[in-house]
Order: sequence, then C-alpha cells, then structure tokens
Amino acid sequence: MSLDENDKKRALEEREKTEGAQFDTEETNDESSEPKSLGKAETHDQKENRRKLEDHKDRVKQETGADLSSDIHVSIGYTEIPSSSLPSLGRFYPNKASIQIRAAKGQELEHWTTMNEDNPIDVDKHFKDIIASCVKFKIGSRPVPARNLLEADKLFVLLKIQEKTFDEDENKVVLSVECSKCGTKNKKKLEASSLEIAEDEDNKIETYYDSENKRYSVKTKSFGEVHLYPPTIGTMEFVYDYVTEKMQSKQYYSKGLMQLLPYLVEDYSDLTEKDIILADTDFKGWDKKKISLIYRLVEMIKVGIKPNLKFNCTNCGSKEETPVRFPDGPKALFLISDIEDELL
Ligand SMILES: [Zn+2]
Repeated sequence: MSLDENDKKRALEEREKTEGAQFDTEETNDESSEPKSLGKAETHDQKENRRKLEDHKDRVKQETGADLSSDIHVSIGYTEIPSSSLPSLGRFYPNKASIQIRAAKGQELEHWTTMNEDNPIDVDKHFKDIIASCVKFKIGSRPVPARNLLEADKLFVLLKIQEKTFDEDENKVVLSVECSKCGTKNKKKLEASSLEIAEDEDNKIETYYDSENKRYSVKTKSFGEVHLYPPTIGTMEFVYDYVTEKMQSKQYYSKGLMQLLPYLVEDYSDLTEKDIILADTDFKGWDKKKISLIYRLVEMIKVGIKPNLKFNCTNCGSKEETPVRFPDGPKALFLISDIEDELL
C-alpha cells in the first residue's frame, strides 16, 4: 500500500518534472521552428518579431483592455487567450494568469492520429496531450502545468489551438442541421467563439462567488464555510487515475466521495492517496444533511459551456439549437478534412 503511494508520488513528481522541462524546450523549439525567424538576417527577424508582439499587445488591449506591455510576455508563435473570453471567464484562475496557445506541430499532429475514437477516455487523453503541448500557462512569470486549466475551458482552448493550427478554410468542423420549422438544411461551424457559455440562471451559487479566493465560499448554518472549486483537468485526471487503479485492483473506494471530490480540491498537485483516505474518513463522518447540501451545491455549479450551439435558420430565421458534436469524429479536428480535393 505504502509502496503504491510512493510510486504514485514519484510518478507525479516525474510528470511535473517533464512538464517543467517541456516548457523550456518548447520555448527554444518554437522560436527556431517558427518559419519567420529561421532566416540568417537576425536583426530583421527580431524587428519583425517585435512588431508582431506589439501588434498583438495592441490587439489584446483593444479587445480586453488588458495592458500586456507591463508584465506578461507573449512568446513568438503564441497567442494570448484573454481569460475573459474563456467559458469560465477566467474567474477561477489566480490574478496574473496568462494562457497562451500555439499551433500544433508535426509530432503532435502525428500523435493525434493514434487516437482511438471509439474510446472516450482515449479521446480525452489526446485532447489533454495536445493542450499540454500547445498551451503555455503562467501565473505572472511562473509557468504552471497546462492541466491547471479548468475542465470547463478545455474544449474552448482545444478549438482555439485547432483554429491556430489550420487556415480559415483548411479544416473546419461544420454541423449540418435541419431547421425544425421549415426543414432547410443549415450549416453551423463549430468554433471556439460559437460555444455558448453556461449561466447560473437562478443566480444561486453565483452569489457565493469569492473573487478574492477565486472559488465559491458558501457560508452555511450548520457546517461552517464550504469551499467549492470548478475542477481542473489535473484534478479530474487524479480522480480518474485513482478510481481506475482501485477498480483494477478490486480495492474499495467511495463512489459518493469521488463525485464530490473534484469540486473540493483546490490544488491537485500535492494531492496523495493518503489525502483521499483522510477525505474518505471525513466523508463517512458527514451526516446526510451535509452530503446532500454539498451535492446540491455542486449541481448548481454551471461553469463551462452549454451542450448546444445556437443559430438562426438562414431561410425562415427560426432560432434553432444543435448539440455540440464532432460529425466526422473528434479525430477530424486535427486532420485536414478536405484531402479529397488534393487527389487527382
Ligand atoms: Zn427555417
């Protein structure tokens, strides 16, 4: 048991290390593999890069009012995603969080093709892999793993990377939907900007949003203050790995706790099996009232995207909706879909 724990911890540390190293190598890789900076005329390229950076800063400033010239450095080849444009609106990330993305490159695209589309776990793994490679997440100047991103922002960021990787017409996901009123077949493009941000319509949990601590802080009559966090990719991964391991070794784990745990963890990076065992003991001691209260609160958290996209019928103007989906399978996202055009 304790061996398992140590193994797990070591594996996690190892992953952190690799992740840290990736940040470094990527930074240098990127500048050398960016076609525009390949030339020998360094001063010209440097000038060009600086100009691009300035343009970028101006654009971000125009779009978001954020001034990047002060402390956020946008690396060449990367684009800043303003946190206010994310489905989470960036409200659960620390101040000074900066999320930058770059286009996916050869080996990442190659790895993508190994996705088993019939296995949702494998699909999700490939989503996370491409995010880990193409996202530079920083708090101020400190790099943090890309899996500190919220699950709620995952698809949005993935689509942003896809849009940066391909030209406008090179690869797009188009949903074809029949109008429910007049039967016209409409085409709706699936892109980051078309995702609808979920809202807490009853405004129940939002009143407990704690902007200082970037979480929900819910004061209760009988159980003190309850803190809830929309899950990060890293937290979900930890819980998933934990459950898988327990299932495979036919060991006990609490299904009830596993449903709530992702919302109770502030930082997955120092989470160990021991913490889960402690949490489980704690959880067993909770009375029914507390468990159902927390379930209810978790249900109220609506951070993320809506399951449907909205569009207006081009023929009759009817307001229609269609589920977010990948009509040609998720793998098509990073494959050039109109390859047939190339064949003679
Ligand atoms: Zn219509």
